[in-house]
Amino acid sequence: MSSTPSPDAAARHRIGIYDQGEPGPTILVMSALHGNEPAGFRAFERVYERLLADKTPFRGRLVGFVGNLTALDKQQRFIDEDLNRIWQPGDIARRAAIPWEERSSEGRQQAELLAALEGELGQASNEPIYFLDLHTSSAQGKPFVCIGDTLRNRNFATQFPVPVILGLEEQVDGAMLEYVNNLGHVTVGVEAGQHDDPTSIDFHEAFVSLALVGTGCVHRNDLSCYNEMRARLDAAGASLPRVLEVRHRHPVSAADDFQMRPGYENFQPVKVGEELAQDARGAVQAPETGRVLLPLYQGQGDDGYFLVREFAKFWLAVSALLRRLKLGRCARWLPGVHVHHGDANTLVVNRGVARWFTVEIFHLLGYRKERSDGDQLLFSRRVEDF
Ligand SMILES: [Zn+2]
Repeated sequence: MSSTPSPDAAARHRIGIYDQGEPGPTILVMSALHGNEPAGFRAFERVYERLLADKTPFRGRLVGFVGNLTALDKQQRFIDEDLNRIWQPGDIARRAAIPWEERSSEGRQQAELLAALEGELGQASNEPIYFLDLHTSSAQGKPFVCIGDTLRNRNFATQFPVPVILGLEEQVDGAMLEYVNNLGHVTVGVEAGQHDDPTSIDFHEAFVSLALVGTGCVHRNDLSCYNEMRARLDAAGASLPRVLEVRHRHPVSAADDFQMRPGYENFQPVKVGEELAQDARGAVQAPETGRVLLPLYQGQGDDGYFLVREFAKFWLAVSALLRRLKLGRCARWLPGVHVHHGDANTLVVNRGVARWFTVEIFHLLGYRKERSDGDQLLFSRRVEDF
């Protein structure tokens, strides 16, 4: 009984490689981790075909991937389980031990993707690896990018003239972006708009095109469409805040019968107490004033909506400074804080002692909140700050 994917099955997830043998960074573009999100896949094809047609000079390597092939075929988010929620290292190891024939559809897709990615992520090189994960959503809305908050991710993400969201990855466990980020690479998640809106393909095309230049793989003057692509995102991001942080996630399950009220879009301002949705228990109200992100208007999915709030430039600068000074290393000396006995990079915070602004302070120092454990909060230090 086999427990590994065939080389052919892995190769089907690679949709294009552009490499002229010149040393340079690697850009990996992931599309359709969710099968009802074909826009990223289409956009990569456009960019790839333009590079081939123009014979664009290129330093480094570009590889496009398609995530959930079986779900893409059926035009649904997933078959058995969400392929973008099963990337915690323990999960991956557990799934790899299951005989091939007994795995879920996504368990097999994951193994194929890992095999397809292996050669790209495993290469020993001093050149950086950039990972873009392209998504769309069920609601209409302005495009944005989201990152795990490391300085390298910030530097790369803020090149795109659209809002950058911090902290989305803390709200969902097992996202592929976080897995690749924890391998030490630069990672950016991209949300381009509504699943079937043709402009979502246009925006993804613009993100990937700007990434070619932003990574230094392509010189701006060699990309014929650069100005057009830049203008496309400039227009989309105009009048929106540059950096926002997630303040709240509204989780839903099928039993909740969650119904978002019609008409909400990404970044739409809402007031505390505003009725955003109805569920089995009645009205769902905004717990604080902010902006709505990713309101749920489809059957599958377990995030009802997120609330985000502008993150002031001042605090961005403060946290960059704290991290350059490596003050995160001193966090273990704060009262109520100790190092996790099993993992030197995880801190356990006693909420009874460290009472105020705990999460905010640890964010500033470059930690990711892992979970709440009764009176304790667990934070892990991000790879880059080791
Ligand atoms: Zn998605």
